Amino acid sequence: MADTRPSWDEYFMRIAKEVATRATCPRRSVGAVIVLDRRILTTGYNGAPHGLAHCTEVGCKIVDGHCQRALHAEQNAILQAALNGVSTRGATVYVTCQPCNACAKMIINAGIERVVFEGDYPDPFAMELFEEAGMELVRLRDGVAELLFPGRKRRERGCE
Ligand SMILES: [Zn+2]
Ligand SMILES: [Zn+2]
Repeated sequence: MADTRPSWDEYFMRIAKEVATRATCPRRSVGAVIVLDRRILTTGYNGAPHGLAHCTEVGCKIVDGHCQRALHAEQNAILQAALNGVSTRGATVYVTCQPCNACAKMIINAGIERVVFEGDYPDPFAMELFEEAGMELVRLRDGVAELLFPGRKRRERGCE
C-alpha cells in the first residue's frame, strides 16, 4: 500500500498553520513551530506579550505600517524556548510566512539552521541575511518544497 502520509515538512507546516489560528494581532495570522530531530520544541503565533492586552481587544499600535504591540510568531517560539531553557541549536523553524529581518536575525542567533516557510513577505533583506548566515532555506507551497539556499552549517559540522 502506498504511503499517503504527509512528508515531515508538510506535517510540521500543517501544525504551524493550526498554531497561526491562535494569533491575536489581526494584521496577519502567522504560526511558527521549532523542531529538532522530528520533535516539536516550541510553538508561537503573533500576538502581544503574555498578560498584556491583545490587539483584538484594544486595537493594533501601528507605527510606519507595522504593529508595535505584537511579537512575531518566530519571536514567541524562540522566547518560549528561552523561558523553558530549551536549546534551539541545530533546529528547524517552520513558519507560515517568510520571516522579517528582525526575526531572521533572532533565528540566526538562536542557532536555528533550517527555515521552512510558505507565504511571501516583502522583506528581501531577511533573505539576504539568511543566505549570508548559511541558513538552509526552503519554500514549501502546495506540498512542493523549493530549496532556495542550501544550508552551510550542518555540512560544516558533519551532520550530513
Ligand atoms: Zn496588532
Ligand atoms: Zn518577524
